[in-house]
Amino acid sequence: MVKSLYAVEEAVNTIWVFLEHSDGVIRTVSLELLGKARELADGAGWSVVALLLGADVETLAPTAFAYGADAVRLAEHPLLANFTVEGYTHVACEALLAAKPSAFLLGATPDGRDLAGRLAVRLRTGLNADCTDLRLDPETGVMVSEVSGFGGGVLALLQMQHHRPQMATFRPGVFPLCAPDPSRHGDVIPIRVTLTPEMLHTHVVERVVGAGLDLSQAPVLVVGGRGVEGDFDTLRKLAALLGGEVGATRPPVDEGHIERARQIGQTGVVCRPKVALVCGVSGAFHFVVGIQDADTVIAINNDPEAEIFKHADYCVIGDVREVLPALLEQLQLQSGC
Ligand SMILES: Cc1cc2nc3c(=O)[nH]c(=O)nc-3n(C[C@H](O)[C@H](O)[C@H](O)COP(=O)(O)OP(=O)(O)OC[C@H]3O[C@@H](n4cnc5c(N)ncnc54)[C@H](O)[C@@H]3O)c2cc1C
Repeated sequence: MVKSLYAVEEAVNTIWVFLEHSDGVIRTVSLELLGKARELADGAGWSVVALLLGADVETLAPTAFAYGADAVRLAEHPLLANFTVEGYTHVACEALLAAKPSAFLLGATPDGRDLAGRLAVRLRTGLNADCTDLRLDPETGVMVSEVSGFGGGVLALLQMQHHRPQMATFRPGVFPLCAPDPSRHGDVIPIRVTLTPEMLHTHVVERVVGAGLDLSQAPVLVVGGRGVEGDFDTLRKLAALLGGEVGATRPPVDEGHIERARQIGQTGVVCRPKVALVCGVSGAFHFVVGIQDADTVIAINNDPEAEIFKHADYCVIGDVREVLPALLEQLQLQSGC
């Protein structure tokens, strides 16, 4: 068996969380992970450390403390201003080898996945990707990651007995965002950066930021499935009146009725809205994982046996072509539009 670069006995009872940030703001997924790490660390008497890499980013440390970090390991360098997988891997690897934390959690975002894979190989450790939950056994210090597979037919519990750090990635929205506590403080521990320009094969020429749609934070979701037959205009009007966003299952996305960024589910976005109005959706597992943590689910389907009704708080058996225009009319009347 390949040995990790540091052994279980050497590992320190600390959970590290990679802090992703953009334009001076920490990404929500990193804050969600800090909250989860805090909860696990409190149960086991461990500490939580946020790993912060960038240029002029020390101002983000108080936010990390407020969301649960006890300390921030800070690497600041002009070559870290933009994420490059070579630069971030080099610095994170040195920092991890120096401090030897027992666990390292990252968001399953494009950058987080890129960094996690490289780091796991370099550190000769394991990586549990796209986990849906995480537990920590305080007796053994072993983490148990939950991963679903085979269309939800299998729930795998993964643990790393012999390798450290125990690495895992989590998609945005898997864990709730805890309320910040601005009274929390901590230590900022600088990391010496040994990065040189020759080590970087990637040069960021231009950064183009997309529309910034973040469905995982929408308070209300109006979701259309194959049953709405591509009529997303009605759903957009409903979402606007309800102060929410439009989402979709995979078939309307594949058919080009709506952009892929709005796909909800296992290969889309995992959301926690207060209300999800789910229209013409059968309730396949791959979709349900994206809304199962909604406070209230209202489902409209013309099939009384539809699986989605098992996951709904309110079930409307009816044709979306009749129910949705009637609902829209009532909401417009009430709002005076
Ligand atoms: C590896 C993998 C990953 C996947 N990831 C995702 C994912 O992230 N998100 C996702 O959504 N899917 C995903 N899928 C696909 C998923 O398994 C389902 O096929 C998909 O969710 C079904 O979408 P749907 O409910 O819109 O369509 P259907 O299953 O076709 O259901 C349509 C529903 O609409 C109802 N209906 C039809 N007409 C009307 C009407 N006039 N009024 C009211 N109701 C009506 C029908 O009764 C039916 O229940 C994935 C599949 C795989 C294999």
